[in-house]
Amino acid sequence: MKVVKENPLVSERTLVLVKPDGVRRGVVGDVISRLERKGLAVVAMELRTLSRETAEDHYAEHRERPFFGELVDFITGGPLVALVAEGPRAIEAFRALAGATDPVKAAPGTIRGDHALEIGENVVHGSDSPESAAREIKLFFPELG
Ligand code: UDP
Repeated sequence: MKVVKENPLVSERTLVLVKPDGVRRGVVGDVISRLERKGLAVVAMELRTLSRETAEDHYAEHRERPFFGELVDFITGGPLVALVAEGPRAIEAFRALAGATDPVKAAPGTIRGDHALEIGENVVHGSDSPESAAREIKLFFPELG
């Protein structure tokens, strides 16, 4: 039988957003500290307010969902912090730190589990696949190539 092992030394990049609720509540430092403590490195970072166009591009896969309008209103409603985190299996590693999408179901000890109660205001975003990460990093940090 052929055994294929993942190489843990191969680095991966993921796009992380500290959403406007996280910036408003002052948990930017906590999010960065958690991901650095885990072993991920911040390789790009910016504070910015998204245009509706960028927000709609970022959440394009949710365009037909009933919450899309509110999601775009919320994500464009104040400054957010966008960053690129890098490390072995960074995509999965950050999503584990973030916790479940619904903060009430997110385990205590995760970012959402510790800081949020409402699904619409769940503090952070993390790319969910290598394809999404590549697309989202290009949208936020085109200069990274
Ligand atoms: N969302 C929402 N209502 C829902 C489902 C999702 O407002 O019923 C928002 C929520 O902020 C979530 C985002 O839409 O983070 C994207 O949803 P997704 O299922 O991709 O969750 P994520 O990958 O962020 O955990």
